[in-house]
Amino acid sequence: MAGAVGIVGCAGRMGRMLVQMVLETDGLTLAGGTEPAGSDALGQDLGALVGFADIGITVTDDAAALFAVADVVIDFTIPEATVQHARLAVAHNTAMVIGTTGLAPDQQAVLADAAQHVAIVQAANMSVGVTVLESLVQRLAGVLDEDTDIEIVEMHHGAKIDAPSGTALTLGKAAAVGRDVSLDEAGVFTRHGRTGARARGTIGFAALRGGDVVGDHTVIFASQGERIELTHKASSRTIFAKGAVRAARWVLTQPPGLYSMHDVLGLTA
Ligand code: NAD
Repeated sequence: MAGAVGIVGCAGRMGRMLVQMVLETDGLTLAGGTEPAGSDALGQDLGALVGFADIGITVTDDAAALFAVADVVIDFTIPEATVQHARLAVAHNTAMVIGTTGLAPDQQAVLADAAQHVAIVQAANMSVGVTVLESLVQRLAGVLDEDTDIEIVEMHHGAKIDAPSGTALTLGKAAAVGRDVSLDEAGVFTRHGRTGARARGTIGFAALRGGDVVGDHTVIFASQGERIELTHKASSRTIFAKGAVRAARWVLTQPPGLYSMHDVLGLTA
């Protein structure tokens, strides 16, 4: 199905990648892009913004006008903006794909309300590979009992300011769901000094930092005599944009609801 895609936050790191990817994707057209008032990008041609030839559509701060003409809007901005955009999606009956992270519970509630009227895909990690890994981890954790120790190791570039990564936590949650336990109770986030033996049923985390690593995650299932290791390595942020564009195509044909990347990939059936 052909679709006109709007990109809010089009001059951001993800926004630029998305503009480029939509322009290069058959069957999708670019409806426009927005940035907030005061942004240097306002008035620039969207093609030129990503190093392509001019396409005759400029960056504006008029999000309402974009929602009025787009079939689906992709949002990788900031939580405050995403909430406003979700309200516009309802007003203009426009589907959304939301990658913005860090929404507070009241902001998340606005998205849930909006999803009663329009179709929204929301995921903290839009990578197809990570979504598949989560699904595998949940399934394995359910099959292997607590004789199997689960450890999650992640590595990111040295400039990352939080640990463990959001994706490592998501993988930990998937393991906890598979085991029918709560990550708050089962998670072990630090080990230093005389820690004592590993407690049965815990899910351990280790975070490594260095260099320019985009994001590596390994989930280890270790038992007496054997070990399974599942690893995902990201070498480019384009995986998030690719997943978001795949979600945009998918959401165009969906009824109202709040969907995840698992739904997009058919992993929830
Ligand atoms: P960024 O700061 O480079 O880009 C954000 C853009 O949004 C900026 O250009 C900013 O001007 C714009 N913006 C802010 N308010 C706006 C408004 N009201 N209207 C229009 N544009 C507005 O950040 P980024 O690295 O592109 O990440 C953006 C968000 O996406 C973050 O929350 C990040 O954590 C998240 N993210 C999610 C995934 C995923 O897979 N879900 C992947 C990467 C990043």
